[in-house]
Amino acid sequence: MTPRLRLQPEVAGQGMTSQRVRDRLVERLRESGIRDENVLNAVRTVPRHLFVDEALAMRAYEDTALPIGHSQTISQPWVVARMTEALLLDASPRTVLEIGTGSGYQAAILAALGLEVYTVERIGDLLRQARKRLRQLGMNVRSKHDDGRVGWAEHAPYDAIIVTAAAPALVGALIDQLAVGGHLVAPVGGASSQSLLKLTKRADGGVDEQVLAPVVFVPLLSGTLD
Ligand code: SAH
Repeated sequence: MTPRLRLQPEVAGQGMTSQRVRDRLVERLRESGIRDENVLNAVRTVPRHLFVDEALAMRAYEDTALPIGHSQTISQPWVVARMTEALLLDASPRTVLEIGTGSGYQAAILAALGLEVYTVERIGDLLRQARKRLRQLGMNVRSKHDDGRVGWAEHAPYDAIIVTAAAPALVGALIDQLAVGGHLVAPVGGASSQSLLKLTKRADGGVDEQVLAPVVFVPLLSGTLD
């Protein structure tokens, strides 16, 4: 898989948003254990500063979550990289379903890896902004305004599924929409303690489960908002 994104000069950034700053973030991710060169390349290519408010752009290449409005956050780069790496390990997914589009950054990383991306977001305003950014970057991501706890049955099964908001337990509908051999990565737990879980679907329909890391995500909520 080779990253497909080719950036226009006007989105390449200058100063605190330049390629050099992005390269430094990639080195930091490498030092903190991210190994997949394709994932590191995607982080090197996708301009994270365009996925946050302009006032926060200068902090976009710190390895930290940042607010994106509506009490939501763009995930920490290390978490994005770790989850993406986990989806790709021992698998060659073609399609991926994301629950929780948020800023659209995780979707952009997946698209830059050449995956066919489907993403679902419950907050209409965030989804509209994410769509606009992804379109400006020329990234072809399919998205839907809905409660992602029901997945997106129309295009199932997906070779990989990534959930970017935490639920007390794994969501059954999503496991149903995962293809055999595919990985699902999701934070599971309450407000104070969550673990990043990776499930792999077996041919008999059962799942193998692995705990990857302690994490902090915003909650997976029910219903939709405009
Ligand atoms: N992947 C995002 C992270 C956003 S934070 C990014 O890269 O920026 C998690 C997002 O999940 C929020 O935008 C929140 O509104 C959304 N979310 C929470 N519950 C949801 C649900 N049931 N269905 C779809 N999206 C949900």
